[in-house]
Amino acid sequence: MTNPEQQAKTTCADPRWSAVLNRDISADGRFVYGVITTGIYCRPNCPSCVVRPENARFHADSSAAENADLRPCKRCHPDQASAQGRLRKTIVALCPVIVTAPQVPSQDALAASTGVSSHHLHRQFKEFIGLRPRQYAKARQARRLREALDQSETITAALNTAGYGSSGRFYAESTQVLGMTPSSYRAGGDDTRIQFAVGDCSLGAILVAQSELGICAILLGDDPSSLLQDLQQRFTKAHLVPGDADYMQVVARVAGFVDNPAQGINLPLDIRGTAFQQRVWLALRDIPPGKTLSYAQLAQRIDSPRAVRAVAGACAANAIAVAIPCHRVVRSDGGLSGYRWGIERKRALLNSERDA
Ligand SMILES: [Zn+2]
Repeated sequence: MTNPEQQAKTTCADPRWSAVLNRDISADGRFVYGVITTGIYCRPNCPSCVVRPENARFHADSSAAENADLRPCKRCHPDQASAQGRLRKTIVALCPVIVTAPQVPSQDALAASTGVSSHHLHRQFKEFIGLRPRQYAKARQARRLREALDQSETITAALNTAGYGSSGRFYAESTQVLGMTPSSYRAGGDDTRIQFAVGDCSLGAILVAQSELGICAILLGDDPSSLLQDLQQRFTKAHLVPGDADYMQVVARVAGFVDNPAQGINLPLDIRGTAFQQRVWLALRDIPPGKTLSYAQLAQRIDSPRAVRAVAGACAANAIAVAIPCHRVVRSDGGLSGYRWGIERKRALLNSERDA
């Protein structure tokens, strides 16, 4: 039996305690906590509960709390945590469906495909992604267009690549979608808006950047100002906007993910790169936590066994640390090779994944 003073110390030293004190909504779903004096357990962000640290006990989820003979709080319903988690997974899975559909699906069609009420789905989508499904689809369309304009010889060719039919109608639409005419876009404009902020995680400073489509950079380092410089170099044309107080919750969520990659990031990623880089990065995302591949094995996975150097180059060019787990690639002899964010961070990540 630990004495109350010791227990209070243990609780205060636990990073989950600060989430409870701050009623951190980004911690929701990551754990629950019980109050031994009342026998009730709550979500980290429960609005009703004030608990003394000596009386708080953390549990991984509601079933662990119930095994410890705790009852769910009637205010925050922590036993329904998994329903929220399932809905968020549904929303993330919905994003590519919206993007690849030839027409933006109607609200009702989207809701019907998920079995969630239309109103609820849209509210949750907006809360989680930051945009309504239709706005999200439009943003995607704009991205396709920008990429086509960057890569095509002529504007007409770009219109075809981006899937627009007659170019007369397109020109009006594209101007609306791009916020400028296609030709001024090609002359060097770019209205991509990227929010960013720097926070803390177990690996040091973390910069998280998000475009209208999702997380586009997770950068790790010791020094916030060099992280910002790195961001500017990677997105020279974009309009970089410091994140507001709401955005800090996104940063906290991503930092929580970096501290525990097995929980999954559960946020859409805006992955930019050449077709080859994207193939490499997709293959990286298939390596589960705790496992590693060599560069040669990775090259085989993407059916380019001779492209080992190019594969290593694509790993080094990755802008989204941990979510695109380039740290899970090692030398053929198992030794650690370089890591964009420092070999010590790579070692720490691999060790914590192996122990998890
Ligand atoms: Zn509660």
